[in-house]
Amino acid sequence: MAKCDEGYLCQICGEEVSGITQSDLYLRYVIGLVDPETLHLQQERHIKCNPNLAQFIDVDGFRNLAAEEGFEKENLDSGFVEKRTELLTRGFKRLLELRKNDLPITEYPLPEFHSKYA
Ligand SMILES: [Zn+2]
Repeated sequence: MAKCDEGYLCQICGEEVSGITQSDLYLRYVIGLVDPETLHLQQERHIKCNPNLAQFIDVDGFRNLAAEEGFEKENLDSGFVEKRTELLTRGFKRLLELRKNDLPITEYPLPEFHSKYA
């Protein structure tokens, strides 16, 4: 999905995913969880429609999301939660930056994941 494209629908709720800052796919891409080769093959979802991941974004609007039973961060190892929160929060802030900058898609990921795909 390019930033200006429209018409990608969320696999969970069926509503349009309007923009990169709502995109679970791009969030996972910038934190190194999606290979760019498979980016166009994956289903789109809203960040909020994937609360198991979104609960780690420490930004207003994402706190207090209810993850699925067994995936609530209250029940996970605190060291893991700390690392995930740091990563997901940076990943989301990266999406906010990308919205304003015109970068090639290979440069979307956070710096530590660039070399992985180079
Ligand atoms: Zn959705």
